[in-house]
Amino acid sequence: MAITELRGLDRIIVPIKLEPGTKFVFQCGPGVPCFKLCCSALYLPLTPYDILRLRDHFGLTTDEFLILYTEPFILPRSGLPVARLKMRDDAEKTCPFLGEEGCTVYPVRPLACRYYPLGLGIFRNRDEGRNEDFYYLVKEGFCQGLDSGPEITVEEYRQSQGIPETEEPIKEWAEIVMKKESLGPIEVPQKSLELFFLVSTNPERFRRFVFESKFLEIFEVDEETLSRIREDDLALLQFGFRWLKTVLFGEDLVKRRREVPREKKIKPF
Ligand code: SF4
Ligand code: SF4
Repeated sequence: MAITELRGLDRIIVPIKLEPGTKFVFQCGPGVPCFKLCCSALYLPLTPYDILRLRDHFGLTTDEFLILYTEPFILPRSGLPVARLKMRDDAEKTCPFLGEEGCTVYPVRPLACRYYPLGLGIFRNRDEGRNEDFYYLVKEGFCQGLDSGPEITVEEYRQSQGIPETEEPIKEWAEIVMKKESLGPIEVPQKSLELFFLVSTNPERFRRFVFESKFLEIFEVDEETLSRIREDDLALLQFGFRWLKTVLFGEDLVKRRREVPREKKIKPF
């Protein structure tokens, strides 16, 4: 049976909130009969850090990587635009990084691949004024690794997949997505969507936007930050997320210059 026929027929999200210490049963690897079945016909959104790591893995510019391997995608609940992996144009719509032996980019595989078969959600605890992560299980009929291996806790699984270090650099980005989700289906100006897409997908273009447009006439950025974001893509991402929170939600994280005339300001959502 074609992989596309196997996928998606009986996808079940188990509606149980899992804690870091919750145990589940799972095994995966080249020995399982369903090996590689989960690597096709996917809607696989890439985080900004996924793009950075995959781009560097291939030694490409960001533009080259985006053109070769991605396509634009609107995140369903937030309506925000991101890049997702473009599946191959074959009958099974396989991932472009799937090889005979499995994943060919395993050390830098995307965050979503690391999580599977777990899912991650974030909710706002209004009483305590903070965000809380929660996890859930995604059961798909073709995945024979569930319920047939050793017991493992959610946190042990996360550690074994290198999730914490892949997730940490995009924590503020995830907060932006979650905040937009919580606002519901409000209309967002096209310009705001473009800025979000720029920071989320293309650090090289965002850097040019900061240093070669009127950006620094509008925003006040100290010399130390400027020298870091000029060289360091991760520092640039962190700066970009704080700047997005400023322009999209009106948070005061990147200072505006007082003398800036109104028409130069970028409107929030
Ligand atoms: S990146 Fe690797 S693990 Fe993720 S879908 Fe593609 S082949 Fe599978
Ligand atoms: S056990 Fe599940 S996650 Fe592992 S290869 Fe099979 S389908 Fe994919």
